[in-house]
Amino acid sequence: MTSIRDYGGEFALIGAISGILGKPKDRKVIAGIGDDAAVIALDKKRDMLVTVDMLVEGDHFRREWSTPRQIGRKAMEVNVSDIAAMGGLPKYALVSISLPDDTTAEFVMELYRGMKDAARKHRFDVIGGNTTHGSRLVIDVIIIGEVEKNRLRLRSDAKAGDLICVTGTLGKSTAGLETLKAGVKGNVREHLEPRCRLHEAREISKYANAMIDVSDGLSSEVGHICEMSDVGAEVFREKIPISMNTRSLAKNLGKDPVEFALHGGEDFELVFTIPERRLKRIRTRCQITVVGRITKKRHGITLAWGKVKLPLGGGYDHFRLRRTS
Ligand SMILES: [Mg+2]
Repeated sequence: MTSIRDYGGEFALIGAISGILGKPKDRKVIAGIGDDAAVIALDKKRDMLVTVDMLVEGDHFRREWSTPRQIGRKAMEVNVSDIAAMGGLPKYALVSISLPDDTTAEFVMELYRGMKDAARKHRFDVIGGNTTHGSRLVIDVIIIGEVEKNRLRLRSDAKAGDLICVTGTLGKSTAGLETLKAGVKGNVREHLEPRCRLHEAREISKYANAMIDVSDGLSSEVGHICEMSDVGAEVFREKIPISMNTRSLAKNLGKDPVEFALHGGEDFELVFTIPERRLKRIRTRCQITVVGRITKKRHGITLAWGKVKLPLGGGYDHFRLRRTS
């Protein structure tokens, strides 16, 4: 028997699972396993988006670090981020929750208040779910969304010559997490209260070719776009946007913040590719940074640093429980 840790990583396992499940029979399914959300044809103008994401206590949050309201908000933001990455809007959510013996009713109420905060902010409804007892606190959220057909953005549409851009700054969540783990002082709010880029995604989806959200680090997300689009990429290390706070947290830990940006997780920013001529139109509406360029596949996926070019390593792997670079 092979341990899931030794199987070849999270994405090898997903590949094997999708081999067992096979291609969807229903011709309405436009995209199944392999993008940020599944896409199903809804009517002539719109597609339906469906995504699911789970938070597990100890892995994705700790009750000693986060308030229940923060955990509730995070559970929703990480899911809305996947809808945003497709260019769409969230409409409905379903929440399954497993509660251990030591959970208080007050904790559960606050958790759902946090989910409601996010639902109100992003204008969707929580319409059902399931509660059960379990040995660990687990929150599993499904979000159903919609996207106009001409705004649907897949991972598979990057073209050689496109610029690679990111919203906001990267590495902030991992900098916060490492600070909490080390038990040192610092502003860790961006780890505890991640915010997805739904508003920006709606603007970007008008102009971008491919789009993905940053859940496992920039190198992993660029890798997914390249694999699905059959292209290569060059990322410029010095262009990666990192905030002053992330730099100062990393400095306190004696770590390189660029490593957090490349291989850390949970920033929930967007990575997208866009022809250079369309860049100006987005620049006036969102804060974005050009971090690289899509190349032909034969050039591989590289990280450029001055005159040095190295292969760009992987991101966070949930099964190997370590960085994969
Ligand atoms: Mg995603």
